[in-house]
Amino acid sequence: MSSKYSVRNDVKSLTEQALTRWLQEHDIPSYRAGQILGWVYHRNAKTFFEMTDLSKDLRQWLSNKLTISSFTHEKIETSEDGSKKYLFRLDDGHYVESVLIPEVKHWTLCISSQVGCSMGCRFCLTGSSGFMRNLEPSEIVNQICAVRDDLTSPQSLTNLVFMGMGEPLANYDSVIHAIQIITGNNGLQFSGRRVTLSTAGLVPAIDAFGKDARTNLAVSLNAADNKTRNHLMPINQTYPIEKLLSACKRFPLPPRRMITFEYVLIAGINDSPEDAIKLARLLRPLRAKINLIPFNPFEGSDFKRPQEATILGFQKILLDNNYTVLIRRSKGQDISAACGQLRARAQDQT
Ligand code: SAH
Ligand code: SF4
Repeated sequence: MSSKYSVRNDVKSLTEQALTRWLQEHDIPSYRAGQILGWVYHRNAKTFFEMTDLSKDLRQWLSNKLTISSFTHEKIETSEDGSKKYLFRLDDGHYVESVLIPEVKHWTLCISSQVGCSMGCRFCLTGSSGFMRNLEPSEIVNQICAVRDDLTSPQSLTNLVFMGMGEPLANYDSVIHAIQIITGNNGLQFSGRRVTLSTAGLVPAIDAFGKDARTNLAVSLNAADNKTRNHLMPINQTYPIEKLLSACKRFPLPPRRMITFEYVLIAGINDSPEDAIKLARLLRPLRAKINLIPFNPFEGSDFKRPQEATILGFQKILLDNNYTVLIRRSKGQDISAACGQLRARAQDQT
C-alpha cells in the first residue's frame, strides 16, 4: 500500500512493510525491520541506543534519521466500576482520551481515532463539540502502548475497540496503518478477532475496510427507519439505511463471525416496541448481533434515557426474534468515560 506515512520519520507510524522499504532504500538489510520493531513493541525500547543487537554506528545513524514517539498520560481518572480514563496531550496541544474497561478475565481498551468528530450525531457529546483533526497512526498506537505500560500484567489487555473519540473510517489511511501495527507479528500482536472498529456508516469506506482489514465491524445504526436516523445522524442523508445494510451484506465476514449493530436507546425517539419490530425485520438478512446502549445523558442535551422496563421490553422483542442482544451498561459514567461522553479539550482539563 503506498502511503504518506512511509515518508514520516516516526517508527510508531510505520508498518513493518513501510519500515522494511525505507531501510532497503538506505541499503540496510530488511531483516533489521523486524529487529527494530521487536525492540519497540516487545521489549519496550524508547530509543535506538537500547537496541544492543544493532551495531553502534547503525544505532547512531538510525537515531539521526528516525524518532520513536511515546505518550505519557497527563491524568488518569478511575471510576467506581473499575474503568479508567487516560488523558493524553498531543504534540500540538490537543488532548485525546482512551478508556480501559475491566471484563471478567481481561481488559478492553476503547481508543480514539480523531480529535473531535465531524459527523455531528445529535446524541453524542464528541460530535457536538466539532472536529479538530485526524490522529496519526503513531497517535493511535501510542494510546495502547502507554496503557499497556501502566498495567501490572500487560498481557491481560487483549481487546481493543475503536469506539472512543472520532469516526475511524473518516481517518481511513491512518486507522488501517494503525491496525496493521496493532495486529502485526512484529507489532502489538493483537488477534484481529479481538479488535473491533465501530462506524457511523461511511459506505465506501466499509467496502474498502472489508478488503484491507481482518478485524470485527460494528455499525452504529441507532434507528430502524430513515426519518429517525436522518434526524439523529446527518450521515444518513448521504448513506441511508438501505445502502448501509447492503454494504454490511457485502462485508466479507469470516465463518461464525457477525456484525455488531449498536443502537443507542433514546426515550420517545427510537425505543418503542414498533421500533424493535422494525429493527428485527431490517437485520433479518444479515449475520447480526445487537448491542443496545441506553443513552448516556450529558449537559445541554434534551434527550433522555428510557425507563428500565422499556429497555428490557425492547431487548425482549429482539431476543424473541432470535438475536443475540446485549444491553451495554456503559462503564465509567461517573468520570464521563461512557460511550459518547468523551470530549477532551484543554479548557476541560483545569
Ligand atoms: N464514531 C464511531 C465510533 C465512536 S462512537 C461510531 O459512531 O460508531 C461509539 C458508540 O457510542 C457509537 O455506537 C455511538 O452510537 C455511541 N454513543 C454516542 N453517544 C452516545 C451517548 N450519549 N449515549 C450512548 N451511546 C452513545
Ligand atoms: Fe462521531 Fe460516532 Fe459521535 Fe457520531 S456517534 S458524532 S460518528 S463519535
